Amino acid sequence: TVAVVLFTSDLRLHDHPPLRAALRAAEEVVPLFVLDPGIHAAGFDAPNRRAFLADCLGDLDASLRRRGGRLVVRSGPVEREVRAVVAESGAGEVHLSAGVTAYARRREERLREALGDSGVALRVHEAVVTAVAPGAVTPAGSDHFAVFTPYFRRWSGEPLRDPLPAPRTVRVPEGVRGGPLPARDAVRGVSEGVPAGGESAGRERFSRWSRSGLARYEDRHDDLAGDGTSRLSPYLHFGALSPVELVRRARERGGPGAEAFVRQVCWRDFHHQVLAARPAASAADYRPRRDRWRDEGNAGEDIAAWREGRTGYPVVDAGMRQLRHEGWMHNRARLLTASFLTKTLYVDWRIGARHFLDLLVDGDVVNNQLNWQWVAGTGTDTRPNRVLNPVVQGRRFDPDGRYVRRWVPELAEVEGRAVHEPWKLPEERRAALGYPAPLIALADGLARFRHARDRD
Ligand code: FAD
Repeated sequence: TVAVVLFTSDLRLHDHPPLRAALRAAEEVVPLFVLDPGIHAAGFDAPNRRAFLADCLGDLDASLRRRGGRLVVRSGPVEREVRAVVAESGAGEVHLSAGVTAYARRREERLREALGDSGVALRVHEAVVTAVAPGAVTPAGSDHFAVFTPYFRRWSGEPLRDPLPAPRTVRVPEGVRGGPLPARDAVRGVSEGVPAGGESAGRERFSRWSRSGLARYEDRHDDLAGDGTSRLSPYLHFGALSPVELVRRARERGGPGAEAFVRQVCWRDFHHQVLAARPAASAADYRPRRDRWRDEGNAGEDIAAWREGRTGYPVVDAGMRQLRHEGWMHNRARLLTASFLTKTLYVDWRIGARHFLDLLVDGDVVNNQLNWQWVAGTGTDTRPNRVLNPVVQGRRFDPDGRYVRRWVPELAEVEGRAVHEPWKLPEERRAALGYPAPLIALADGLARFRHARDRD
């Protein structure tokens, strides 16, 4: 007997329930990944993620080969390729992880239709992409939690499985065709600082970080220059690491750092359960407001300055340049750059979210869109009108200005916290820096935003 495992956002061998189930049900298994042009058509195919994905697939193939198997990679519409692989292998079951995005749901439907009455069973596994399945906990009278803290409380009480070990051997049937693995080197336009992808790299990073960084996470996670976060988000995005395993291992270590880390991983599950219940929130306001956001038509120059990191607000520009250079940005910088775009410049959050998705290695319809909505005040923030002041944020989270000086070389010679307000330097010195004046006075931005929201 043969079973197919369709890998999606779960590119790992450890703690992989669909793979475990397939290996239990069948003697031979086809580990399959399909490069579906639908992802490209949906505008979701960005070079940084494509490069990281190539690493993940290469690593998965290598790990399978060490176990006597291989990864079968095919290109084409996913339902067509799955049907073909089923036919070539004589498989009786197809296993995959449940997803929450519109694309993932549609994929599931397409597979169901394609397998139709062929007698081949489609088995969808929950709690693979998230630690707790969306919908597993709900508040009275609703299908999802709209507020994080009560969700976290319930989520924390949910039992998590013991992480499953990686299988020792995987036997792949003969006669199933596979195309070449995508190569990272072939991807053009990749940001310089994109790390190596894959389960092996992710596991190594987690082990290292949980020994050195986890205990200090609570104190350091908001320090922009200290870089005290795990940087595991790209590995979680591609499922190279299991959220169940991370939570279990962090809890075993214990302490305030581990607790704070687990809470952040819960934010990821929180957004998944929101989007699972409200799929339209990937594009439409979760809490509709009457904002008349500015857009390319009337704010083109401001948007370009924001994207390119030349707004004249150093900590905003530092964040935007880190994003371009690394395909990653510190969470605090994501918050303040997004607040600056939506509230100070009063630009549509979708424009910012698009730019982030174009560059983030962890860029993810669930976490990106819902965090953007949170910041824009159209999402789940219970204080939707809060505005982050970039100067205050800079002084607080980059007190000696190291983060700014790292990413904004024009300001490298400005000492200490003066770096957060270069417009206050003596005129001659300021002019010599070659750094732009502020795009807008913060008070003007605030007045426009308050005026717009007062109409609500
Ligand atoms: P750590 O601080 O080490 O946290 C551990 C893990 O918890 C992260 O890897 C991540 O999976 C999860 N996590 C932490 N914070 C959040 C959060 N606020 N929401 C959801 N999950 C969280 N995260 C993404 O994974 N993809 C995105 O596309 C994305 N877009 C964002 C856009 C904006 C405007 C904002 C404000 C945040 C966004 N985030 C996104 C959330 C967060 O910034 C990143 O997950 C985090 O910075 C990743 O770094 P880390 O792995 O070092 O995080």
